[in-house]
Amino acid sequence: MRFDATRDAARQQWAAFAPRAGADYAAQRNLDRGPNEPATVSRLSPYLRTRLLLESEVALATAQMHGDAAEKFVQEVCWRTYWKGWLERRPQVWHDYQTELLRCASQRRLPDYQRAISGETGIACFDAWATELRDTGYLHNHARMWAASIWIFTLRLPWVLGADWFLTHLLDGDAASNTLSWRWVGGLHTAGKHYLARADNIARFTQGRFDPRGQLVEDAAPLGQPQHPPAGPVPTSSVVDANARTGWLLHADDLDGDGQLHRQLRQRLARPLDATAVLRSGDEAMLSPPVQAFRSAAREDARQRLAAAPVVDVEAVLAWAKDAELQQLVMPYVPVGAAQDALAAPIRQWRASGLTVATQVREWDAAFWPHAAKGFFQLRRAIPDVLSDLRTTEAGSAWGR
Ligand SMILES: Cc1cc2nc3c(=O)[nH]c(=O)nc-3n(C[C@H](O)[C@H](O)[C@H](O)COP(=O)(O)OP(=O)(O)OC[C@H]3O[C@@H](n4cnc5c(N)ncnc54)[C@H](O)[C@@H]3O)c2cc1C
Repeated sequence: MRFDATRDAARQQWAAFAPRAGADYAAQRNLDRGPNEPATVSRLSPYLRTRLLLESEVALATAQMHGDAAEKFVQEVCWRTYWKGWLERRPQVWHDYQTELLRCASQRRLPDYQRAISGETGIACFDAWATELRDTGYLHNHARMWAASIWIFTLRLPWVLGADWFLTHLLDGDAASNTLSWRWVGGLHTAGKHYLARADNIARFTQGRFDPRGQLVEDAAPLGQPQHPPAGPVPTSSVVDANARTGWLLHADDLDGDGQLHRQLRQRLARPLDATAVLRSGDEAMLSPPVQAFRSAAREDARQRLAAAPVVDVEAVLAWAKDAELQQLVMPYVPVGAAQDALAAPIRQWRASGLTVATQVREWDAAFWPHAAKGFFQLRRAIPDVLSDLRTTEAGSAWGR
C-alpha cells in the first residue's frame, strides 16, 4: 500500500477504483482483506483529507457513472462532510477532547498503553492493526472500528489517548472524522449506541485472518451519556475586496486540488492576483514522520500547480505579504482542528498589522453543513438535492480538469 502525495496519484487511484464504486463497493466495503491484498474500498482518504482530490469530484462522478448504485459510496463520502459540519458547529467538543488529552497525559507512561501502541497486547488482530497503522498510515474503516472498540472496552484505555494515537499516525488524520468516530464507538455521540467489537464479526469480515475468540470484552456499558453543546452557526465565506492587492494562501486542510477556489478568486478580483503561496501552518510537529512527509509532499505538489509558489512558514507570512505589498490575504476556510488552533494567534497578528484576511468556504461544505445539526440521517436526506444543485455549478463542471 503506497500513497504518493500528488494530485496525479490521487486521480490515478480514483480512476482505478471508480468502476468499483457502485454495487461492488456497497456489497464488499466491510471486508478487510489486509494491507497486502486488493482493497474493497477506495483508500482515497489521505487525498480527500488534504483536498488534493475533492468530495464533489468523486461523489458527482460516481453518481454519473453508477446511477442509483452510487448511493452507498456517496453516503460514505458524506459521512466525512457530516462529521466536519457537526464539529464546525460545536468546536467546544474538539477543545474538550484536547483538555481531556492533557489530563490523561501521564497515562502514556503506563505499560498497557505502551504495549497497545507498540502492537504487543497479545491480541493478534489488534497488534496487526497497530503495526499496519504505524507502517502504512492507513487502516480499513472496519479495522478502525474494531481497534477503537478493543482499545476502549477490552484494554480499558482512555478513548482520548486512542484518538490521539490514530490522529498522529493516520495519513488521513482529521479532527472531525477521528474525534467524533472515537466518541461514537465509545457511546458518547449517539444516545444508546456504542460499538462493541465481536470476535465472530472480526473473523467473518477479515475472511478468517483473525479469530480473537475469548479475548474480547463483548459486553460493556457505554462510556457515558452523550452531552452535546447546541449547534452553533455554520461558517460562511468572508467578503473579498475585489480591488485590494491580494495574496492567495493554501494550507494542508485544503490544497485546492481541482483549482476551483483559485479560479473563483481570480474571477472575483478586479485585478490580477499579486502573490500565491502554500502555508506550513506549524501544527505538524506531533505527527508521525510518514504523515509529516505526506503533508510536505502534498504542499510541494500544490506549490508546483501554483507555478512554483513558495512554501511559507506561518512566522514568515507577514514578511512575504510585505514583500508583495499585499493588502489582503485569501485562504480556503481552515476547519476546526489543529491547524485552526495553530493559526488563530498568527491571523490576529496579520490583521493587527493591517492585512485583511478572508477565508472561503467551498460550495460543497456550504451546501451540506447546514444539514449537520443533528444526526447523519438529516444530512443524508439532503444528498440528492445538494448533488443536483452542485451539478450546475463550478464544482460540478470541474471534473476532468
Ligand atoms: C475510530 C475511527 C477513526 C477514524 N478516523 C478518521 C480520520 O482521522 N480521518 C478520516 O478521513 N476518516 C476517519 N475515519 C473514517 C473512515 O474509517 C475512513 O474515512 C475510511 O476508512 C477511509 O478509507 P477509504 O478512503 O478507503 O474509505 P472508502 O470506504 O473508500 O470511503 C470513501 C471516502 O468516504 C469518507 N468516509 C468513508 N467512511 C467514512 C466514515 N465512517 N467517516 C467519515 N468519512 C468516511 C472518507 O473520506 C473516504 O476516503 C475513522 C473511523 C473510525 C471508526
